Amino acid sequence: MKALFPTFLGNEEIKNRIGGAILADRSPHAFLIDGDGGAGKRTLTRLIAAALNCERRRTEGYALPCLGCDSCRKIISGAHVDVKELSRSSDRATVGVAEVKTLREDMFLSATEAEKKVYIIDDAERLTPEAQNALLIMLEEPPKNVVILLLASGTDRILTTVKSRTQYIALSRFTPDRISDYIRKNSEAAERLYLSDRAAFDAAVMAADGSIGRALSLIDPREAEGAREMRERAIAFVRACAPRAGFAELKEATDAFPTKRAELSEQLELAVRVLRDMIAVKRADNPPTVFFPTAAEARAEAEPFKINRLISVFEIVMAAHDDCNKNGNVTALVTAMAGRIHLLKN
Ligand SMILES: [Zn+2]
Repeated sequence: MKALFPTFLGNEEIKNRIGGAILADRSPHAFLIDGDGGAGKRTLTRLIAAALNCERRRTEGYALPCLGCDSCRKIISGAHVDVKELSRSSDRATVGVAEVKTLREDMFLSATEAEKKVYIIDDAERLTPEAQNALLIMLEEPPKNVVILLLASGTDRILTTVKSRTQYIALSRFTPDRISDYIRKNSEAAERLYLSDRAAFDAAVMAADGSIGRALSLIDPREAEGAREMRERAIAFVRACAPRAGFAELKEATDAFPTKRAELSEQLELAVRVLRDMIAVKRADNPPTVFFPTAAEARAEAEPFKINRLISVFEIVMAAHDDCNKNGNVTALVTAMAGRIHLLKN
């Protein structure tokens, strides 16, 4: 029995299902892989592309994918000519029909060196409906030997017709305990940090947000520094949203926010997580937390707030986060957010 995707952690049922189908030459021609950032979508996608083309797919004694043959190595490093990726450029909120059409032409016209040509479409939830309809033709009648991998964070915006023509894969994330166990066993740096600075270790595990890869990179001192700053800015911002804080404090906190779209989006998301914990501790005695290592810490921060104010601030920050991802003007949306919070009555 071959080991299936042994380098991809967890998600056993999914690995058996996909691996089994590939070994039996019954791979679906399209997958929809759904998971939040950090769930390992991109990693799994590369591994599926490698498995589909692994030269040792039928050789006993090798895992699927083997990761050592020529084809696997090229695919994992992103150098394979028959594995193509369509990603949204970072300054645009959606992927339009033109990009999908280019991909479609390529799919039908270009020659293939690989057994399976693989097309990866990142951020599929950001394809416009027109782009999804253009995609539909490829999903209905894909050229032989083409496999399409759609990646999405949530599938609300994906057309039912698209969903129904793909195999749906939902990736689950790891609990903080599982991440903590894993990185302590597999990284000396993590174990050192655990023993020397438990608070920093816990902060990295929480900030990793379900992703072992992210946890490991946060253990790296330079990354950890950036993440710590982001956490501190999120807390300073939420404190400045308290009813007794003045507008000057709020402005100072938001002026410190990053001005690059992707970073601002991450910063706002972090603020949402702080607020989410603070609301949770107002509603329950000891709820699981997503930002603070313990409910007690969240409760201390939440003390100056009434729950209704927290919910209002939460909604305002969520709206700003949405604007940020929808291409809103970065400076204007932060200013508007601060203004709306300042105007809250109680
Ligand atoms: Zn291989």
